Amino acid sequence: MKKSTSSRFKGKKRLHNAMRILTTELCDYGCGEIAKYKFKNRKLCCSEHTSACKKRKQFASNLLNRLYHTIDFLEKRKKGLDMKPNLLEKHMIEILNKLYPDEFKFVGDSSKWIGGKNPDFKHKEKKLIIELFGDYWHSKEVTGIDEQIHEQERQSHFENNGYKTLIIWEREFKNIERLKLKITEFYRKEK
Ligand SMILES: [Zn+2]
Repeated sequence: MKKSTSSRFKGKKRLHNAMRILTTELCDYGCGEIAKYKFKNRKLCCSEHTSACKKRKQFASNLLNRLYHTIDFLEKRKKGLDMKPNLLEKHMIEILNKLYPDEFKFVGDSSKWIGGKNPDFKHKEKKLIIELFGDYWHSKEVTGIDEQIHEQERQSHFENNGYKTLIIWEREFKNIERLKLKITEFYRKEK
């Protein structure tokens, strides 16, 4: 009898390990609010769940940003090991300079970060980004996601940060005229 009661309480305790308290002390997580709960580890918090604390929320989103930053950096590094994309990048800037002299800049060398991601080419004034996708490194085989979804994810990331994004695949360099057309259409639409 006693055993079953204690095990039942054990389960409850785990769910409610924050104890409501009355204190004038501040939240230990640095949000500046008065603490209302005390945890098993003796930490005081403004909320029953630390994840609801403003400061903890901020901390979590910073952590996530840093993580995205790292993932993107690794992606770039991985790309850098393959010579092909670098040649492609040079080819791309030649095409861009022919179409729009000196308007786009190659920033894929980590010189420009937008919301934790490093785009390949950026217009110097307009909010336009051009991304180069290597056929292999951006394939479903490597990314684990559908090419179309992979494109959309990249686009909506920059869009959420105020940039229109055009994605060009390595294979599109086989038809330069069509590629140029794709770029000019993208550029025209964003005027
Ligand atoms: Zn707090």
